[in-house]
Amino acid sequence: MPRVTIQEASRILNVSQDVIRRNVRDGKLTAAKEGGPNGTRWMVDIPENIEDYSDDFKQDIHALAQTLTPWWYDNPNKRGFVHYLESLGIEEVEPFFLCGAKGEDIWPATGHQTGDRCQECILEAMAQGFPMETRE
Ligand SMILES: [Zn+2]
Repeated sequence: MPRVTIQEASRILNVSQDVIRRNVRDGKLTAAKEGGPNGTRWMVDIPENIEDYSDDFKQDIHALAQTLTPWWYDNPNKRGFVHYLESLGIEEVEPFFLCGAKGEDIWPATGHQTGDRCQECILEAMAQGFPMETRE
């Protein structure tokens, strides 16, 4: 199986680099530190069966989306607004937010203030009668 950088693994497996790092930490992906001209860096082994990998990931993320709040950050640094997660798509792992923003991934927004919420997402959720706090 090919061994690639985290950046390349992110592209090949169609998930964010953050997810790749998380999967390396939890053992879902194997990786090793390799020395190079620019110092050492993590190299990730691409699984032989990429389909299995993405199915697992989709199950995880769908389970999350169903049980938790619809409000998510679209970046890992919790910058900008919290968006309302409309769906995760059937074929894609990329999330779609109500306001039309399309994120690379979703990051938990636990503890956010209502003032942090995207105004367009709020208006759209109200217009469609969606629950504001949970998906239940
Ligand atoms: Zn939004």
